[in-house]
Amino acid sequence: MKILSCKDMGGSDDFVAKGATEDEVMERMKMHVKEMHPEMMEGKSDEDMTKMKEMMKEKMKDE
Ligand SMILES: [Zn+2]
Repeated sequence: MKILSCKDMGGSDDFVAKGATEDEVMERMKMHVKEMHPEMMEGKSDEDMTKMKEMMKEKMKDE
């Protein structure tokens, strides 16, 4: 199981994305950000999104 918390991404709530694969966790975190922190996605270029993905992979932990 892989986990990634919103706090690790700079958020302030207690949301934690969990999944069996990195892709699953990233998908869940993206949905959470879209819903709760739309401003984090605003005006983001493809390059920014790639950086965000890399950051998510880096911060992800195994549980
Ligand atoms: Zn959050």
